[in-house]
Amino acid sequence: MATPRTESFEAIVIGGGLVGAAIAWGLCRQGLATVLLDEGDIAYRASRGNFGLVWVQSKGLGAPWYQRWTRASAGEWPRLAADLAERTATDVGLQQPGGVHLCLSEPEFEARAERMAQMQREAGNTPYEYRMIRAPELRDMLPGLGADVVGASFTPYDGHANPLRLLHALHRAFTEAGGVYVPEAKVEEGAAAPHDFAVLAAGRRFAAPRLVLAAGLGNAELAPCFGLAAPVRPQRGQVLVTERAAEILPMPITTIRQTQEGSLMIGDSIEEVGFDLRQTPPVMQAIADRAVRSFPWIGDLSIVRAWSALRVMAPDGLPIYDQSARFPGAYTANCHSGVTLAGAHALLLAPMIAQGVLDPMLDPFTAGRFDVRAAS
Ligand SMILES: Cc1cc2nc3c(=O)[nH]c(=O)nc-3n(C[C@H](O)[C@H](O)[C@H](O)COP(=O)(O)OP(=O)(O)OC[C@H]3O[C@@H](n4cnc5c(N)ncnc54)[C@H](O)[C@@H]3O)c2cc1C
Repeated sequence: MATPRTESFEAIVIGGGLVGAAIAWGLCRQGLATVLLDEGDIAYRASRGNFGLVWVQSKGLGAPWYQRWTRASAGEWPRLAADLAERTATDVGLQQPGGVHLCLSEPEFEARAERMAQMQREAGNTPYEYRMIRAPELRDMLPGLGADVVGASFTPYDGHANPLRLLHALHRAFTEAGGVYVPEAKVEEGAAAPHDFAVLAAGRRFAAPRLVLAAGLGNAELAPCFGLAAPVRPQRGQVLVTERAAEILPMPITTIRQTQEGSLMIGDSIEEVGFDLRQTPPVMQAIADRAVRSFPWIGDLSIVRAWSALRVMAPDGLPIYDQSARFPGAYTANCHSGVTLAGAHALLLAPMIAQGVLDPMLDPFTAGRFDVRAAS
């Protein structure tokens, strides 16, 4: 078969989920001619099955650089949401009223208090505000709290958004700014030289001096072709959604949030089951039980939807960002908090990629921290 003619760009992004779309949009915003290639509906897509938190409070225990990156992203989120609203007329539903993590027993409360204190110590000079709140005060903040709740941690940094609208708005902003989106385009092979990359997908050949691997779980296979490593694995999470309820929850909780439309999202399990997307009644029951113990009135609501999706998880749970040492210009971006980190990916990481240098603040996120070798 004849080689297709080469379509040249300034950047190729592989993967049209939240991570790839945020970076592609960010590159476009920097004025780079960018093509975004996405495998399509048969791929695993965490971006279409997540919980929608813009969550800061528990990120980075023992890894304060991750807390700083997450905080930076939460700080960029209002700018991202405003920019997307202006360019696409899409309200991505951002609310950042702070958030709470509920504790249903004294040992849970004590462990949480210790964790929060450690996070604050590790934050060093960066302020890390939090409060441990006992049930009587919490009852005034969260109507209908259950008798089993003994307290909670609160930070002012947390929030939530509508992740599907975010994905849609990123894609729309990207294409309206001249970005080229190619769906049903699985990348299976590529050629790499420093600042010179070519990939084949959907019968077409794309070339650019920059290449970003943002293919979620697909990165594990792609990375070695470009002198990178992305040792990510799937981790299943199951989510339940109730019918709409009167507005009642003024802020998101780690496992319960009320959407702008009124539904309650209840989540989300953490299961090491490989690429298994089944939903399992015992896990759904455990999720529902905890929600009803937290807020007994939830028991009166019908569940209208439920699903499972696979997180993109590194061995230590932190993101992986890298530029290939062998093929400079090739980057990889992997994380299990693609909603939370959308602000950083679009407005901080993309400009670094456009300039060709990752900021030293990202040094701790290289895959070199694992026992992996980037293949040639
Ligand atoms: C149950 C659950 C709850 C979650 N809750 C939250 C939350 O509250 N807050 C938060 O911040 N994050 C949350 N997350 C995580 C968040 O959803 C992910 O971090 C994010 O979606 C990852 O985005 P991604 O673009 O890396 O991956 P994906 O969404 O998986 O997208 C990868 C894309 O790459 C494409 N692709 C794969 N291989 C190739 C290839 N070879 N060629 C071309 N394209 C390819 C696929 O088609 C896919 O569209 C949750 C995840 C789950 C599963």
